[in-house]
Amino acid sequence: MFVLLIALAISVVFLAKNYSQKQNEDDAKKIHVVASFYPLYFFAQQIGGDKVSVVNMTPAGGEPHDYEPTPQDIMKINKSKLLILNGGGLETWIDKVRDIIDPTNTRVVVAGEDLINQTMTENENKVSDPHVWLAPALAEKMAGKIMNGLRMADPENAAYYESRARELSARFADLDVAYRNRLASCANRNIVTAHAAFGYLAAAYQLHQIPIANLSPDAEPSPRQLGEVIQAARDYKVKYIFFESLASPKLSETIAREVGAKTLVLNPIEGLTPSELSQGGDYFTEMSKNLANLELACK
Ligand SMILES: [Zn+2]
Repeated sequence: MFVLLIALAISVVFLAKNYSQKQNEDDAKKIHVVASFYPLYFFAQQIGGDKVSVVNMTPAGGEPHDYEPTPQDIMKINKSKLLILNGGGLETWIDKVRDIIDPTNTRVVVAGEDLINQTMTENENKVSDPHVWLAPALAEKMAGKIMNGLRMADPENAAYYESRARELSARFADLDVAYRNRLASCANRNIVTAHAAFGYLAAAYQLHQIPIANLSPDAEPSPRQLGEVIQAARDYKVKYIFFESLASPKLSETIAREVGAKTLVLNPIEGLTPSELSQGGDYFTEMSKNLANLELACK
């Protein structure tokens, strides 16, 4: 009996070792990709499937606007075949790491390139508005650039990436149609958002964004700016004030109280919270929830 147990234990250890060795070998065969924040990570995963291993640099619950890479992130970037950035100033850290990226090993894809054509105000300056991923038709173009990057980094699996990118394109197209149809009959097209993340979405579906904060969700607006938002919310008879799951809802609640409105989430999908992820949330589930809340607010 004792001998049998020992034999069993040895074979379990052996199998486990083999299994982890196999896992390591599988992982070594995969194309290593680093994405700067959640939407790019999700798109790369959807297109890359089991041929890629994607790292999201901004941890769950983190905010890409104020993220700084750690030395471990830099190591991961250097080991990757593909670094996917948004562009438009979202990655404030890129100039610091550009010189240490080896271009012969790591290809850099700027998924928002040529799509970022809106500006926003930050500290009285006009800056690029990086939030292109919130308009489904533009997100589809970003995914196209990611597919191209994967195809060039791993030409052997080009057909695989192309076919998965086509499936993803169809999902963006469905989402775009749903937004178009369900927001077509909005009576009140004014949306008060926590930060100015919805400019591209507003432009795509003829909404008018009134942001409480500008570029960064955690930046405190001045009392004058806050007064203007309250006045606009009153003038436009806004019934809901939006807030975000990654930032404090306090200002949205204050404004809602002030003007007799309610609050609702409008997620800029700059990162998902651990609870959103554990409930199976992804870009599409959050975009659908956003649509349901926009529909409710614009009645
Ligand atoms: Zn933002």
